[in-house]
Amino acid sequence: METKCYKASDLDDLIKLNELKTLLIEGKLVVFPTETVYGLGGNALNKDSSKAIYEAKGRPSDNPLIVHIARKEDVKLYARIISEDAAKLMDAFWPGPITFIFDKTDIVPKETTGGLDTVALRMPNHPIAQKLILFTGVPIAAPSANISGRPSSTQFKHVYEDFNGRVDAVIDGGESLIGLESTVIDVTDKPVILRPGAITKSMIEKVLSYTIHDLSGQKPTEKVKSPGMKYTHYKPKGDVVLLHGEIDKVKAFIDQSSANLDKTAIICPNEYTNTFIGYRTRPIGEANNSKSIAKNIFSALRDMDEWDMDKIFIYYNETDEVSYAVMNRLIKASGYQIVSL
Ligand code: AMP
Ligand code: MG
Repeated sequence: METKCYKASDLDDLIKLNELKTLLIEGKLVVFPTETVYGLGGNALNKDSSKAIYEAKGRPSDNPLIVHIARKEDVKLYARIISEDAAKLMDAFWPGPITFIFDKTDIVPKETTGGLDTVALRMPNHPIAQKLILFTGVPIAAPSANISGRPSSTQFKHVYEDFNGRVDAVIDGGESLIGLESTVIDVTDKPVILRPGAITKSMIEKVLSYTIHDLSGQKPTEKVKSPGMKYTHYKPKGDVVLLHGEIDKVKAFIDQSSANLDKTAIICPNEYTNTFIGYRTRPIGEANNSKSIAKNIFSALRDMDEWDMDKIFIYYNETDEVSYAVMNRLIKASGYQIVSL
């Protein structure tokens, strides 16, 4: 299949915008940028289009898709009940990087929701995403644009690597502003966080004025509430070990355990690259700037495959709530191989 590449300015051209709309209406796939990560988009109301998304990603069909809308008032078309709390949170954070789980209406096919009676809805805060959804006139199902199991795409080159020849169109929107997927919160009952993100637990609690639970720490062996929690995520080909704690102990641990220096890399905050002299390092931003680290982790993980590394150490300590969301991704990338030092 030939994949057509569009740039951001193409969306100002009515002919090109119409081409993209036609593709989506016909059930084809278009990768587009959002403020979190790139999304692999298809018409959310067309079950064949959702099936095509699973196939292009190689995603297990019980792992539901997030449905993207461009107008808040459209929620009632796809959500059966909107609680007072959900309405407050949508007002506070939409458009933005938070996804709400609702009981779904009948027009949302189960192929889109991984067979569930609930639907995940998000209104992204990105001009290209908003324009594409509004102009197409249908909600767009869009999981992260990566082959299942690989790190999410935060740059156009990641999208191209994974999907050139596998989808009909891709839109280059540059680097993702946030770099972490949306916060996911179940609002079918008392709100519960299923995936942490840039909208943090304390930001949500401030709006609700009460404390909520966060289930995102569940291990894949436990009975998970969000199907995505049970699958391998973000994993480079090499073996990944996540280390946290004191830098001297971490350095000693790596010195003792690394076998082949040519095939070993260390992903760490900028200020520690000097400590790991002699090793190949991949800096990810200043240790106390969690927002900049969030932007860098997926491309750092992808670099490990490009560098063909067999052994990857990640050194990272949690500093704040965004950093907690970063850690959630790193834990998964390590396949739960974590060492506290
Ligand atoms: P992705 O689109 O790849 O960022 O992943 C979407 C995440 O949202 C996955 O972890 C899904 O399991 C989760 N999700 C989507 N729909 C639902 C739903 N109806 N109930 C619970 N979790 C959901
Ligand atoms: Mg994903």
